[in-house]
Amino acid sequence: MTDHRPGPDGGPRVLILGGTAQARQLAAALAADPAARVVTSLAGRVARPRLPHGETRVGGFGGPDGLARWLRAEHIGAVVDATHPFATRISASAVRACALAGTPLLVLRRPGWVAGAGDVWHRVPDLGAAAAALPRLGTRAMLTTGRQSLAAFAPLAGIFFLIRTVDPPQPPLPADRVLLLDRGPYTVDGERALMRAHAIDVLVTKDSGGDETSAKLVAARELGLPVLMVDRAAAPSAPTVADVDAALTWLADLGVAAGAQPG
Ligand code: NAP
Repeated sequence: MTDHRPGPDGGPRVLILGGTAQARQLAAALAADPAARVVTSLAGRVARPRLPHGETRVGGFGGPDGLARWLRAEHIGAVVDATHPFATRISASAVRACALAGTPLLVLRRPGWVAGAGDVWHRVPDLGAAAAALPRLGTRAMLTTGRQSLAAFAPLAGIFFLIRTVDPPQPPLPADRVLLLDRGPYTVDGERALMRAHAIDVLVTKDSGGDETSAKLVAARELGLPVLMVDRAAAPSAPTVADVDAALTWLADLGVAAGAQPG
């Protein structure tokens, strides 16, 4: 294998496409690695983002062509797409841009959630299907599908919504609603109390996966509530790993990081 590990005078850098806990964990692991030079990119959607360790840049690249130009100009030797599983446009853009620029691409994506004993989940392919199915499942919904998803539910009459988002959403919104601005991680006790306080009878969520926001699923199971689970779109066509250690190994094999440290 060619060793193109960067020396003190610089060399190929790693671009992490971020906006997730996994992206921050990867940036933190690489910050401790003297062999790695890393920049994390954020979309700039959230007013006060949780910033990762190390260098960051904010804002779109201008589509796949813009990203390909940026990869070349910034001497990027590897891209890790650690964006949210529902951020489909940037993931598609990364696949195209990396092909154009000849840059190796890895997708770091936590697995989706899996229903267990006692769960009553109704899987739907998209937000439109979730809105269509909702009136059959309940009249008081806790809606955690994100700020950009609310228009699909806005036309629904006769349903109360407890809407939880990180930043304030823009209209159109459902008429009968309480808005809660918050972000995880959450606890089962907190989620159970919230559902009880608002007499929630159905939970609507995207299949984001991971531990940070899974407490609501446990609370829903304990309270016997149905869950409307919006499925992920097709995964990006690129090599994919589920955890940070595997991403570190991939970067080490490319010669742009030292790899996972034992212990
Ligand atoms: P999206 O629809 O896939 O992306 C829309 C556009 O935003 C992209 O085409 C790109 O603009 C820009 N963009 C997105 N992520 C970027 C990044 N990490 N760095 C630079 N530009 C980025 O994305 P989204 O669903 O709006 O999500 C935006 C960000 O929030 C993502 O980074 C994601 O990780 C994070 N996030 C999303 C969700 C969710 O449910 N969608 C949840 C939690 C966190 P250009 O085409 O101009 O390059």
